[in-house]
Amino acid sequence: MKLKGLDYLGISDHFSDEEIMVQHNTRQFVEKEIMPVIEQHYREGTFPHDLIPKFAEMGFLGINAPSEYGGGGMSNVTYGLVCQELERCDSGIRSFVSVQGSLVIYPISAYGSEEQKLKWLPKLTSGESIGCFGLTEADYGSNPAGMQTNAKKVEGGYLINGSKMWITNGSIADIAIVWAKTEDGIVRGFIVEKDMKGFSAPLMKNKWSLRASVTSELVFDNVFVPDQNLLPNVQGLKGPLGCLTQARYGIGWGTIGAAMAVYEASLKYSKERIQFDKPIASYQLVQQKLVWMLNEITKGQMIALQVGKNKDNQTLKFQQVSLIKRNNVWVARECCKLARDIHGGNGVSGEYPIMRHLMNIESVFTYEGTHDMHTLILGNDITGIPSFE
Ligand code: FAD
Repeated sequence: MKLKGLDYLGISDHFSDEEIMVQHNTRQFVEKEIMPVIEQHYREGTFPHDLIPKFAEMGFLGINAPSEYGGGGMSNVTYGLVCQELERCDSGIRSFVSVQGSLVIYPISAYGSEEQKLKWLPKLTSGESIGCFGLTEADYGSNPAGMQTNAKKVEGGYLINGSKMWITNGSIADIAIVWAKTEDGIVRGFIVEKDMKGFSAPLMKNKWSLRASVTSELVFDNVFVPDQNLLPNVQGLKGPLGCLTQARYGIGWGTIGAAMAVYEASLKYSKERIQFDKPIASYQLVQQKLVWMLNEITKGQMIALQVGKNKDNQTLKFQQVSLIKRNNVWVARECCKLARDIHGGNGVSGEYPIMRHLMNIESVFTYEGTHDMHTLILGNDITGIPSFE
């Protein structure tokens, strides 16, 4: 069984039966449950909260997390394909799943105590609890090492002070994985629970991008976090960066889904739209744009597959994840612009999905390491010379 859609080189021949089945089921679910409601949520700036239990039922929350704590235990290629299918619909939906899986379930699995894993992972994979990941601050985005949020040791725990910005899922989260510096200047991870005194997560309004995703500030005013909520098994920036490697991997697959969506819409539109008595698809300039999209998307799919295989074989370098994130988000961004152009005036209309994808990708281009920061990570890797630190 193969899915209809863009697969010019037959890359899906390399997927296992399980991977193809999950992709197929995800596509059907997205078309039945998310596609019909996404435009309205986008216009209203709301997240389809009622779908969370169904996401869990479909196994989207922690697909590649260890099965002994409720995760799917599936391959990283499977996780990538799910991200691709979700982002074919909307980057905000994929962001929800990325945060829950890669930025909340992952750090608890990788850095948490046995007690933390038993307490939180089954709730997070079943959608009973929602999580968010607090790293970015107003003055420290690309340079999280400068973070000001701090954790002071007191009897039985820590007092956290500071604030975080641009936090996906913040206002709907039951727990936040928060990165803060202890008095010795070392970054540590904490599980902050929503009802802890002094903690609030106000919604950030007025976003023109990822409108079907919740984005929030996190504010800590002397929040007491008990010792048992400190993630014991990691210290320093490698903690949050390790989580970002997981999420960036999913973004690399996901954004190719958005690119596929706008390519497919453009191909259809160009065959239907008549100008000068012919479909616009008959003009060489339009064909050139469609072929550019086909070409770059196909390369992006190949990169995604190889990076996925490396991740499954445990040979993946984090710099390879920079390559997939950097390339595939850029491809999606360029495809959205071309699709907007091919759709003419209709390209700016909410009747078509193009502008929504285009606006979404602007956030994805910046979050999880900006395009330029990934350029510098790769530049460092190939020259051995760091240009930032
Ligand atoms: P800056 O770091 O100020 O960058 C501005 C520009 O300067 C960029 O072009 C950048 O590439 C460039 N620049 C910076 N330093 C250098 C340099 N050394 N050399 C060359 N160019 C440089 N964060 C979280 O912690 N959790 C989340 O869940 C989360 N969700 C988000 C959701 C949305 C919708 C958005 C928009 C952001 C989210 N973020 C989240 C924050 C995101 O990760 C940051 O916005 C991102 O890291 C960039 O930081 P900044 O916005 O402060 O930009």
